[in-house]
Order: sequence, then C-alpha cells, then structure tokens
Amino acid sequence: MTALDITVIGAGIFGLWQAFELARRGHAVTLREAMPEAESGGSSRYAGAMLAPYCEAEAAPDVVKSLGLEGLALWQAVFPHVTQRGSLVVAAARDMTELRRFARMTEAHESIDAARLGDLEPDLGGRFGSGLYFPTEAHVSTRHALAALRAAIRQHGGRLVFGEPVAEPVWTAAPAGGVVIDCRGIAARGDLAELRGVRGEMAVVRTEEVRLSRPVRLLHPRFPLYIVPWGENQYMIGATVIEREDFGAVTLRSALDLLGTAYAVHPAFGEAEVLELSAGVRPAFPDNVPKIVVRGRRLMVNGAYRHGYLMAPAMARIAADLLETGARHPEIVVDW
Ligand SMILES: Cc1cc2nc3c(=O)[nH]c(=O)nc-3n(C[C@H](O)[C@H](O)[C@H](O)COP(=O)(O)OP(=O)(O)OC[C@H]3O[C@@H](n4cnc5c(N)ncnc54)[C@H](O)[C@@H]3O)c2cc1C
Repeated sequence: MTALDITVIGAGIFGLWQAFELARRGHAVTLREAMPEAESGGSSRYAGAMLAPYCEAEAAPDVVKSLGLEGLALWQAVFPHVTQRGSLVVAAARDMTELRRFARMTEAHESIDAARLGDLEPDLGGRFGSGLYFPTEAHVSTRHALAALRAAIRQHGGRLVFGEPVAEPVWTAAPAGGVVIDCRGIAARGDLAELRGVRGEMAVVRTEEVRLSRPVRLLHPRFPLYIVPWGENQYMIGATVIEREDFGAVTLRSALDLLGTAYAVHPAFGEAEVLELSAGVRPAFPDNVPKIVVRGRRLMVNGAYRHGYLMAPAMARIAADLLETGARHPEIVVDW
C-alpha cells in the first residue's frame, strides 16, 4: 500500500510502539514528544514493565489477556532484551486464602512448594511455604526498553522530535493529507471526557544482598505489591493504585507499604539503598480497557491503565491494520 505520512504524539510506551510498528511497515513517521529525550516517557518511566497476561487476568477482562498474550509474543519476537523467566506469586502463611483465590482466578501456573521456590529463586528458599509460578510470563527493564524502542524507530527511518509540546488542538500537527495518532496518555483527558488518572507510586532500590531474577508478587488483602528486577542490582517495588490524578511526591504511608513489601519478601532488603521514590498517573477508561478512538484521520490511542507495556504491541498492530485496511477490532476501536 502507499506509505502514509503519520505524526505520533507522545513518546510513552503507547506512542513508541505505534511509531515503531508504523515505521517498520514502511510509513513516514514523525514522533513528537514534549519532554527532552532523557526525561521522556510520562508514566511509562515508572512501570515495573511486567509482561504478565496471566497474572493480570486476575482483575482484568479477557481482552486484556488475549491482546496481552499477543503483546508478549511481539515483544519476544522483536526485542532481544526481554527477560523470559516467568513470574512468582507468594503470600505469607496468614494470607493463604489470597493465594488460593489468585490461583482460581488465573491459569497457566504451577503450584509450587518451598523447595521448588528455592530452586527457582534461591534467596527465597525457606521464606514462603508455597506459591504460584507462571513460567511463560516475562518482563523488560523499563528505561532500557524505552531507549531500545527509540533506537528501533530511528533504525527504521522514523524521525523523533523531543522537547517541544504539540500545541492544542493537537490534530493540526499533521501535514496536509497526513494522519495524527495521539498517544499523550493522561494529558489527552481534555479531549477524552471519560479518561481518568490512576496514581501509581513506586520505589527503586539497589542491593547486592538479595538476588531475584524474576518479578515476585506478594499477595496481601490490603496492598498487594510486587518487586521487579531491573538489572544492575536494582529492584523496582510497585505499585500503589490510587484513584487520583496526582503527580505529587510519594506519601509516607505509600513509602512504608512499598519498602515494607520488599522487607517482607526478604529482610536483607533492609540494607538496600533507596534510589528513587516516584509517582506516575496511569490513563484509564471506565472499563480499564484501552481504546483506539477514531475521528477521521485522527486516532487517539489511550487508556492503557495498568497494562501499557503488556498491551502496547497489540494496540500498535490494531491501529496500523485500521489505517492500512480499515479492519476494526470490535472491543478496541470506537468512534468518537
Ligand atoms: C508505578 C507503575 C507501575 C506500572 N507497572 C506496569 C507493568 O508492570 N506492566 C505494564 O504493562 N504496565 C504497567 N504500568 C502501566 C503503564 O506504565 C501505563 O499503562 C503506560 O505508561 C501508559 O502509557 P502511555 O504511553 O499511554 O502514556 P505515558 O507513558 O504517560 O506517555 C505519554 C507521553 O506523552 C507526552 N506528551 C503529553 N502531552 C504532550 C504534548 N502536548 N506534546 C507532545 N508530547 C506530549 C508525555 O510527555 C509522555 O511522554 C505501570 C504504571 C505505573 C504508574
């Protein structure tokens, strides 16, 4: 087909995957981002970047699992630095009902005992009596993945422009006859009445005293949290889910919950250096399922909620198919 002239706005995980997918299909892509390159990425900078379609299905609709499975496969096909070591779910002895509930709500896991847990993660040996192992899940190192996507767009001939916010109304950013794909995340809520922000706080710590090679979720009736190895002895601890559009500093209570989780998973985290305490705002629609909102030659790809990394590759594929063939995914593509 004839190459399209496409402007993508926003270099978070949705915008980057959109620009990458369209550039590798041979379209003329310009990606425009408000922030300087080193600070770009919006809420995508703070994600654990777990690619966990089965674990997320505990609280997400089927379409998130099915497009998440596609997303996981696309990440694996395209990027060499996806860490394919599965994920672990554990709970304290008093929270075994949570573990049983999680097992009932999910699939593709093995129930494991303390010995198997110790085989998988030696530093967790003896710390938990049982758990769930999801062998086919994966994760990426967040900020390396964002940088790798930017490099891949450039390799495919895409143009990246940083440090210049696109002025409202953003659809005028397209050259005559071109297409605009608006991936501004929560910054697009002025144009998407139903979009809301869900605050997520996280910590990054560094320690050589604990070694974990895969994400570990610690179930808890009030604050289920997780630890993701980010490489170089760094661990991301996440994340709160607070119904507020608040970019402000992490609260003391959230910091206690986040850091307490790491300590509960392994007391040696008590000696870790705290490198960062940050908050991101996840964009979400009322059903927490992302959408491609179509208005003529403008697409708004938004509402990633807790699944931006998981869903971005499939969302990019669906948007590209829509532009090239008019094919519409019934649960994802909606008219404005
Ligand atoms: C703590 C935390 C943990 C998470 N963990 C996971 C996880 O493990 N797995 C997972 O799949 N998801 C996770 N998520 C969710 C994921 O991070 C989000 O779904 C995702 O970041 C949303 O991406 P986005 O590209 O839509 O928006 P954003 O990442 O916010 O990107 C929007 C971009 O648009 C830019 N922009 C805004 N306005 C303009 C303008 N006028 N002109 C140009 N550029 C503009 C912004 O600067 C920004 O770079 C997590 C989120 C948080 C907060």
